[in-house]
Amino acid sequence: MRNVCVFLLALLSAGARAADRPNIVFIFSDDHAYQSIGAYGSKINQTPNIDRIATGGMRFNRCYVTNSICGPCRAVIQTGKYSHLNGFLVNGNKFDGTQQTFPKLLQQAGYQTAVIGKWHLGEHMAPAGFDYSEVLIGQGPYYNPPMLKNGKRTQHTGYTTDIITDLALDWLKQRDTDRPFLLMFQHKAPHRNWQPGPDHLTMYDDVTIAEPTTLFDNYSGRGTPARTQDMTISETMTEYDLKLAPQRGLNKQQLAAWNAAYEPKNRAFRDAELTGEALVRWKYQRYIKDYLRCVASVDDNVGRMLDYLEDAGLTENTVVIYCSDQGFYLGEHGWFDKRWMYEQSLRTPLLVKWPGVTKPGTVNDDIVSVLDLAETFLDIAQTDIPADMQGRSLIPVLHGHTPEDWRKTFYYHYYEFPGWHDVRRHYGVTDGRYKLIRFYEPDVDEWELFDLQSDPSEMQSVYGAAEMAAVQTRLMAELARQRRVLKVPEVDPPASLGGGKDNATSRVIRARQQQSSSDK
Ligand code: CA
Repeated sequence: MRNVCVFLLALLSAGARAADRPNIVFIFSDDHAYQSIGAYGSKINQTPNIDRIATGGMRFNRCYVTNSICGPCRAVIQTGKYSHLNGFLVNGNKFDGTQQTFPKLLQQAGYQTAVIGKWHLGEHMAPAGFDYSEVLIGQGPYYNPPMLKNGKRTQHTGYTTDIITDLALDWLKQRDTDRPFLLMFQHKAPHRNWQPGPDHLTMYDDVTIAEPTTLFDNYSGRGTPARTQDMTISETMTEYDLKLAPQRGLNKQQLAAWNAAYEPKNRAFRDAELTGEALVRWKYQRYIKDYLRCVASVDDNVGRMLDYLEDAGLTENTVVIYCSDQGFYLGEHGWFDKRWMYEQSLRTPLLVKWPGVTKPGTVNDDIVSVLDLAETFLDIAQTDIPADMQGRSLIPVLHGHTPEDWRKTFYYHYYEFPGWHDVRRHYGVTDGRYKLIRFYEPDVDEWELFDLQSDPSEMQSVYGAAEMAAVQTRLMAELARQRRVLKVPEVDPPASLGGGKDNATSRVIRARQQQSSSDK
């Protein structure tokens, strides 16, 4: 009898503890640059709702991604492991959903788990580790998305950013209120091709958005990779991206609103017959305005989520995180897209609001990473953290007490070449001030070194400069140490890894083939 009482008491206290454990709302966007978030000092737009998370919590200034591209970053978040260990190195790889992931561990710890929105880790199957899922198929369209609800196809009408929020709020309203929850609330926006929603089609029409100072970069201070990429606003961006070609996926009514907004602007553009820098400037304005219009919808919908949490009395016991799968170029170096270890794509926004734990309005400069999220979530759920995860729980940092032995350097590795945008494979290490990068393709084995203090825009590599010798030696040793500690294979993956783009459409590969055939 006594044993039964002890058992019941243990059950009761476990139940009480379980009920007290915080909920987690992970708000995740795709390709959202920190340069377009008010809390990060944006000079080009306002994000009043995303900023509510920053003012109510902590803003991380150095949240780095390990591999700056969509699918691989999502796999890092799921597993808490670098790409070379979780097996998802490039877009187009298949995510092994049978491996250990943090949502599965949260389920075992008694959490309800849901993922709603963009998943992008495998088609036509329900994501593993979730009690509920309703996800876009692949990238998903901006309008009228088909989705997979627990693996079964559904069809929605409307703007995807709004729909994902509707579905997330519906799930919150019908969840089991006796158990804590994890909600991964994941937007497609503001991913390419940046189709704004019906509420924002003419936003910014009457303003000129400031250009980045490096819009007309000629890459003279860097090596071959920066000069041979294929991601410039001037050359790479298509008429479809620029909304000069008919847009797919909208119904008749949506298209009428779209055309009413875009046709006058497009007519004015065609009449102007721009060339040279004026044309690049026009393209930048069209790109950045559409991008920011998509961000505006994300911000509106973050507001809807935060309002719901408040109205439902969930604010106090819910950790709200805002994060993106990587940073993005908003015209810096003349680019859009991501992939590089350079700042705009290495850094991703991370804002965390945890009432009673994070002091409102705090700013943190420690080197943290999306690699740390899995362990942080398990720690929030007061459950064991597997020893094979490679990040570290952010909880002490969120308390404002960064441990003495917190990481001072960070390892990065990008694999997708040949692939979209012709960014060569590279890896490197940074301590937040200096950055050492090695591009290791057989035909381009080059190093770069930057001092972010004297050269924050990374315009001039100082690799090999006499005055940098000590820094270079130190970072070389640190790079080797990181690769050892992180179990990076000695031999970097073979070219057969492929990527999201057929070799035949890669400019670099085409040039290489032409060269080799003319050599014969
Ligand atoms: Ca992305």
